[in-house]
This record gives sequence, C-alpha cells and structure tokens, in this order.
Amino acid sequence: MYKLTETNWIWRDGEFIRWSDAQIHVLSHSVQFGSSVFEGIRCYSTARGPAIFRLQDHLQRMTDSAKIYRMELAYSVDELVAACCELVERNELDSCYLRPMVIRGYGAASMVPFASPIHVYLPCWPWGTYLGEGALENGVDACVASWNRVAPNTIPAMAKIAGNYLGGQLIKMEALAKGFAEAIALGTDGMLSEGSGQNLFLVRKGALHTPPIDGTLLPGITRETVLSLASDAGIPIREEPLPREMLYVADEVFLSGTASEITPIRSVDKITVGAGKPGPVTKELQRLFMATVRGETEDPHGWLTYVRAERADARSLGGRASANR
Ligand code: PMP
Repeated sequence: MYKLTETNWIWRDGEFIRWSDAQIHVLSHSVQFGSSVFEGIRCYSTARGPAIFRLQDHLQRMTDSAKIYRMELAYSVDELVAACCELVERNELDSCYLRPMVIRGYGAASMVPFASPIHVYLPCWPWGTYLGEGALENGVDACVASWNRVAPNTIPAMAKIAGNYLGGQLIKMEALAKGFAEAIALGTDGMLSEGSGQNLFLVRKGALHTPPIDGTLLPGITRETVLSLASDAGIPIREEPLPREMLYVADEVFLSGTASEITPIRSVDKITVGAGKPGPVTKELQRLFMATVRGETEDPHGWLTYVRAERADARSLGGRASANR
C-alpha cells in the first residue's frame, strides 16, 4: 500500500519521457536541501471516463507553494491542467494518483538556490486505499504523536514542500512503530493540528469541528471540500482551536486528505471514539464525498476535470489552430 507502481510516461518540462528516464543528479538542490514543491491529486473512474478531482485547485496550491519559496514556474495552471490530462490518457489509466513536482535542480552549491534551474515533473501511478484495506469502511486506530507540528513562522506549513515532510515522516513512523495506522500531531501550543498527511475533523453534539488555518497545518483541499459538503448538508461547522482531550470525548473523529480520502478514526491512544465504528456524520460526509469524486452527483463547483473531454477540447483547439495557420 505504500509502494510505487511504475507507469510508462512522466511529463517533464513540456515533454513526455519514460518513467526510467526521470533521473536527477545527486547534488540537485532539492536532494541536498528539500526544495521540491509538490502535490498529490486523485483521478477517479467515472461513467464519463477518468476525472481528476480539484485539479486546478491543486495546481494553484503548487504554484502558491512555489511562490512562497521564490520559485518561478514556467507553466501556467492551465498549461499544467492540460499536461496532467494528457499524462493520464497516455498512461491509459482509468483512475490514479498524480504527483506533480517542481524541483530545484543541479547547479547551486549552497542552500542559496538561484544557480539551480527549476524543473517540473508530472508522474502518476495507480494507488488504492492509503491507510490499508478496510480503513474507509471500518476506520483505523490512531495515537497522538510525541512530535509536534512546526510552529508558525518557522517553516511555512501552508507550502507543500518536501522538507516539511521530515516532521510528517517522524509522526507517521512513530505511529507505525507503536502499531497504529496513523498519528495526530499537536502544534507547539499543545492544541490539535493534523495527521502526518491529513487534516483532522471531529464531531461532537452534532457539530463538525476542525482546527483553523493556524500556521501549523496544510490547508487541505479535501478539508475545504468536506467543509463545503457539510455546509450544503446543513451541518454546523466550528473552525476553532481544539484541545487534545476533545479527541477522547468526541462522538466521531476522522481524517481527510487526497490519499486518505475520508478515513474514520475508531480509537485514539486506545480510547474508543464514540461507538468504535464510523459514526453517522462521518458516513454521510464520506457518502457525499465519494458520490462527488465519482461524478455521481451534480458538480456545481466544477471540481471534476474529465480527462477525455479536456483532451477532445485540446485536440479540436489544436486542429483549429493548425487549420488557421
Ligand atoms: N496535511 C498534510 C501535511 C498533507 O500532506 C496533506 C495531503 N496533501 C493534507 C493535510 C491533506 O491535504 P489535501 O486534502 O489537499 O490532500
């Protein structure tokens, strides 16, 4: 579940290269100093073929992450949208996970990055349930991590950049070493923050609670999706600082993220959450989320990019452009 499955093609700086040709020098700045901005995006199988969920929003977040680190992208969000659709089509995948990356390459000797060129890679591969079989249906057991998340104004939590995941790795490895599927980390103020790669929600007395964007967590696109679905469903929402002990007295707890989707938590630190199985609010949000990403409901926000339609448009535009020449 945590291992890569190779596909044929990777997009690099405007062209498609073989998976095995996507190599970089060991002295690339991103390897030495963690300066690789990235995204994680899911493409779902729908009745209208593969559809990428919130592709523009993910690519905009990647562009924003790059901006925070003074990295200028040579490609617009629209150009990257087109490239992602071509990538999925070329790899002949019906559903997959996309991992766009913007890396600082080879050239700079020190952490001062400007002598290194910036490269954009778009890989994708098939990926099943991130937190293991049955995780979505039954929930998983979690613990509170002994490692804190970064403090505000240290390393920007809003930027999705490789270096940030050193903390995430420690949090996740601690969970696995202790026999849990996932860990929930606190900020340095002791308040709840997020999982190693997911945002945190809990339900108490019918209201949905989640920590605010406080400089310790990534503003997740699934988080925003959950808040939007909950608001449409009339579920009261409280974005507010939450103490650790709220986990133990919550009726329901779940994690949200692109890889993890909506994963219920059935215990924290071996204390049973609610009835020890996914609760009604979690299940309803899961149902709404899955129906949305699979294109089974209306898409008022335009969250799905249908790969075939996008490619057909690109071809007809290309055809018209060349006919005009
Ligand atoms: N927090 C962290 C640290 C993450 O890595 C992720 C996954 N990208 C999330 C939260 C959830 O974000 P999203 O819903 O955009 O995948």
